[in-house]
Amino acid sequence: MKRFHPVLLLLYGYASFVRAQNGIPAPAPGPGASPEPRNLAYSIESVVRYHDSGEYERAIQLVAKSAEEYLANRVAHRRPNENLVAVFDIDETALSNWATLFDCGFCSYSTQVRFYPPPAHDPAIPPVLHLFNFAREKGIAVFFVTGRQEDQQARTVGNLQEAGYSGWTGLIMQPIGNRDPASVFKPRDRQQIVAQGYTIALNIGDQASDLVGCCAERVFKLPNPFYLIK
Ligand SMILES: [Mg+2]
Repeated sequence: MKRFHPVLLLLYGYASFVRAQNGIPAPAPGPGASPEPRNLAYSIESVVRYHDSGEYERAIQLVAKSAEEYLANRVAHRRPNENLVAVFDIDETALSNWATLFDCGFCSYSTQVRFYPPPAHDPAIPPVLHLFNFAREKGIAVFFVTGRQEDQQARTVGNLQEAGYSGWTGLIMQPIGNRDPASVFKPRDRQQIVAQGYTIALNIGDQASDLVGCCAERVFKLPNPFYLIK
């Protein structure tokens, strides 16, 4: 059996302790083996810090302010008889699910859908509510387009109203049992809005899949490092 010098064993143990304290992955266990991925707990600490430090809200404020500046300019150049509309996503855009995300240990979106139905009392994300009211004051119609399914309609309408959203024109939800990804159904839903004679001046959401495809003049991406919807 191979023997190691006691001092070398001591040094190895100390190095392992330092690596653990600093989140440094341990070396590969042997030739050809992949290194262990960074522990997920460090990523969770990172996103909680991002939220609790105020950086998350500051990032949202910057995006919402930019969207308001754009809308003000767009309205100033509105063509006669042009029906401008702004499209808003709901989760992590109009409403915050932070409490649920925290409770479920930042579970995946598919886990949220299966085990955590949308809460009835999510708070508004204030800069987005301000943008919503700004759009309404400028005479721009608002449609919510969401991946939430139609059996959540009453709860969603109640929550939006409770959070301060009022006077929207449309709420487009998905059929019960929908299996299409957001990158497919969201462009399709926006196409429906255009077919009603609207020009989509702005589309805002927290996922890239909220924004790809048909047919907004400008898109605004809010931060969301907490989960991913493809
Ligand atoms: Mg969302």
